[in-house]
Order: sequence, then C-alpha cells, then structure tokens
Amino acid sequence: MVDEGQNTDYTQFLDPVGTKRVGVVYVDFPDTAGAGDVSDYYNLLSPAADWMWNASYGRTWLDMRSVLNRWVRMPAGSGSYGFANLTYEQHTRYVTDALRAAANAGAGLAGYDTFYIVSTAHSQVSRSAAWFWNPSRPIVVNGTTIRSTVTFGTDMWHWGFKVADHETTHLFGGPDLYAFTGDQFQYTGGWDLMGHISGRGPEYFAWEGWKFGWIGDDQVVCVFQSGTQNTAALNGVEYGGGPKLLVVRTGQTSAYVAEARRKAFNDDTACSTGVLIYKVDTAVASGQGPIRVVRNPSAAPPQAGCGALDMATWQPGQTFYDPATRVEFRVQSADAYNSTVNAIKW
Ligand SMILES: [Zn+2]
Repeated sequence: MVDEGQNTDYTQFLDPVGTKRVGVVYVDFPDTAGAGDVSDYYNLLSPAADWMWNASYGRTWLDMRSVLNRWVRMPAGSGSYGFANLTYEQHTRYVTDALRAAANAGAGLAGYDTFYIVSTAHSQVSRSAAWFWNPSRPIVVNGTTIRSTVTFGTDMWHWGFKVADHETTHLFGGPDLYAFTGDQFQYTGGWDLMGHISGRGPEYFAWEGWKFGWIGDDQVVCVFQSGTQNTAALNGVEYGGGPKLLVVRTGQTSAYVAEARRKAFNDDTACSTGVLIYKVDTAVASGQGPIRVVRNPSAAPPQAGCGALDMATWQPGQTFYDPATRVEFRVQSADAYNSTVNAIKW
C-alpha cells in the first residue's frame, strides 16, 4: 500500500533515487488506430523529467526512451479493459497485453526500471494510473519481470506532463493527497501535485521529499518530548540545501510539520509564500488525507484561482497552536529564501 511512512518497501516500489530507465510504449487498438505521431506523445510527457529533477534536487532523473518509435497494436478493443472503473486484474491484463504486444513487435524490454504505456488519443483508456507488480504472481514478458508501469490515458492531454510526475510518484510509494470523496482539495488545496496535478503550488511537501530520499535526515529538525522545543531556519522547499522540515511528533504514526514555501522554480505560480503547517498520519490511507494542511485564520483573503488552503501560509509574528496535541509553531522571521520557526511541544 502507498502511504506517507518513511520505511518504503523497495521490493514492492521503485527506489526514487538515481537514474530511472523508463521504457515508453505507445499502444493503439483494433477499434482505435493510433492518432498522430508517437513523438507528439513523447514530447508531451518528457518535460516531467526536468520537473522531477528540480523537485528531487537533482537526485532523480527519468531517462525516458521509446522502446519502439511507432504504435503497437493491442489484441483487444480499448473499451474492453474497463478503465471507467478499473480493477487490479483488468489493469494487469492491460499492462500484460501491452508489453507482450511490444515484445512481439520486436521491442527489447530488458534493462528498464519501469515502463510508461501510452494510449492513443480517442481511445477509451480514459485515465492515467500506476500499476505495481504482485511479487507472488509476477508478470514475465520475454524473460523480463515487469515490476511497475504507468499507463497513460486520454486525460494526459488535459493534465499535461505533470501527470507523469504524479503517477511516477505512486511508483515510488507515494499516496494520493486529494480526497477520494467529498471536496477533492479539502486536505491540501493546490499544494503538492499528489494533491492537485494542476495546483498552484505543485512542489512536493518536504515530508515526501524526505520519504523519497531527496531530503536527508540532516535536513530534518525534530521535537519529540513534551516540554521541549527546537528552532530551525527553514529553507524554501523549492531550493536545494538547508533545513527543510521542522517535525513535532504527536503519536506513533502522526506528526505536525512546518516547512517554508517560496514562489520559485516548481512553485512559481504559488498563491502565497511563508510557512506551511500540516499534519501527517502514516496510518491514513491514500485519498483519505494522510497529509492535511492547517488553515490559517489570519491569512490574506484568496485571490482569483486560489482557495483558502492555498493562502494558508504563516507569516512572521503569527503563531499556530493545537490544544489537542499541545503543539505550537511560532514564525519568528523570514527573508527571500528562509523562514525561521520555533516549535514547542508543551
Ligand atoms: Zn494518483
């Protein structure tokens, strides 16, 4: 299961750090011939590599290579795979059919860390999704064990390349941060593209950067015990180096986190800047709010295109306090790159 825990099982998931060799396969169907040149699809998705390079502070590179520079014909119609309400079995059948078809068409599948299977436009593959192997029932195609893939549907033309970053993050073990029921953006607004692919502040939460091995333990400042405190000059998550998270533990699986956000690089369209405070619970499932941004009642009113959570950053002089967990964050000062925050566990 994908979650916000810091001990990801990399026999199940893809280790994010390093160069990931991504084999790209383009599929069409007996009922939907390939529309246009496959290079148009590659060109739509490939900026995901630079985006993730920046998000990972240069620790992850998606080396995307087309396994064949043409359409591979699937054995069944695009509607037969059930993408409207996809089950794991249906998804497994789709992945297996696509990679077998590619192998039969002459593609070599050895040497890739993962695959992107890209559907032609106008197919009934309506949405993009991540697929992971079941180690007890592996799929083997021409001697290659398939451990993970992202299958791209027609929604890629709506989302653009960031859908590749979002779905690849699932391969790394990252959960969905948007809500599966109710207001989709109730937990994290437009922060982190696992919460909203087209959000205004799509950079990952620092907690996730830590989970993925992009932020080191030496960049995490913690408060564990009641009656203790700690202070950190938090460097904006958009920049490399420096302390990135101030974590106050609140239980076996939960913590409050403060991080700094700046309108720069992957966040150049952010609605607000300052300190973002959120609650993490590693026991909460994908789509149920494993990360929940704290609202700031003193925040500036939302500008057009921004919601309350997008504006919920905290400014110097402002204090957050949660009486239930006796956690307090005080923002002491800020400059262009850093916000200094004091955390107390009363
Ligand atoms: Zn997702």
